[in-house]
Amino acid sequence: MKPLSARVGTFTDSVIRRMTRISDEYDAINLSQGFPDFDPPRELMDALAKVAYEGPHQYSVTYGAPNLREALAAKFQRTTGLTADPETQVLVTCGGTEAMMCAMMALCDPGDKVLVFSPFYENYGADAILSGAEPVYIPLVPPDYRFDPALIERGFQDGAKALILCNPSNPCGKVFTREELSVIAKLARRYDAYVVTDEVYEHMVYAPAVHTAMASLPGMAGRTVTCNSLSKTYSITGWRLGYLIGPEAVVEAARKVHDFLTVGAPSPLQEAAVTGLQFDEAYYARFNALYREKRDYFLAGLDRLGLKHNVPQGTYFVMVDISDYLALPQFQGWTDLAFCEWMVREIGVAAVPGSSFFREPVNNLIRLHFAREQATLDEVFRRLAKLASLRN
Ligand code: GLN
Repeated sequence: MKPLSARVGTFTDSVIRRMTRISDEYDAINLSQGFPDFDPPRELMDALAKVAYEGPHQYSVTYGAPNLREALAAKFQRTTGLTADPETQVLVTCGGTEAMMCAMMALCDPGDKVLVFSPFYENYGADAILSGAEPVYIPLVPPDYRFDPALIERGFQDGAKALILCNPSNPCGKVFTREELSVIAKLARRYDAYVVTDEVYEHMVYAPAVHTAMASLPGMAGRTVTCNSLSKTYSITGWRLGYLIGPEAVVEAARKVHDFLTVGAPSPLQEAAVTGLQFDEAYYARFNALYREKRDYFLAGLDRLGLKHNVPQGTYFVMVDISDYLALPQFQGWTDLAFCEWMVREIGVAAVPGSSFFREPVNNLIRLHFAREQATLDEVFRRLAKLASLRN
């Protein structure tokens, strides 16, 4: 047989989603792929039930149902202060995943360089390869995940066309300050580059951290492609609804890619989701408070067990440092992946090996998420106690 695509051969399937399959196989508690174990808001479930009988059930406009695009533009206006024309600047996609892919395909030709912070959400690696772009990694250095602006400047000087910014950042929970964003924005303007953002965790930001949209900084609306999703904000990851908002020319190109990749996101779900976008500010405040409570509860549990971790300013992810365990005789020479596989089997908790997020050779971190009911988190603590006991 002739060989398959060499390009596809250069990356693996998602380690995050693979961990979910392994977790299911062993009936473990899945803290790997980020999604909640609780229901979406009642209003959304009711809206979905109504749509089942009233429709629509056929294709919507390929680039998004008009009422959903209008609702997205209105929310964008409320959260960023920016006006986006729903007719020309909004594209509804199958999840934030497709939004990112469409943005990258719309901007990049083979050989173009894009700057990517490391650690990074693993999709960006595949997005770059599939769009032909060459990723140039900018380290976010633990423990506080700061970056060196000089490296970004060098990347732009070397011709990088765009920078990918995940803010709040998966997996490290960093929320970029306005000052940090201004530094990036200034360089993007100076070197005439685009910024592609992934802001799916915009409503999981823990005070005193605040979320600032890159597009809202001076001179950035015309060069920022804001990718986002309804998955996290409304607890509907399976609905596969995402979107991008950006300058007309980029959105027009992204719409072409989307048209031939997926034609459109599911129209019944688009119709039902409009209900969520009409929620008032109280919904987002409650949502944020819920996750803050879960974060504090989860971190306190990790502290009681003596597990070392970062304190995320945003997202529902925590990086746990397993160095002390890898130093034990039974784990000598193990990779973080082997450790995570062992954890699923023997501890009954699934995590994602940190190495799947870092460009640098990092082997001592695993990512856990806390989008779980309190009772589930309590069971996680009981199970992790078995891990912690190995050090006693
Ligand atoms: N963003 C989620 C995570 O990192 C997963 C999203 C997805 O699998 N599409 O776990």
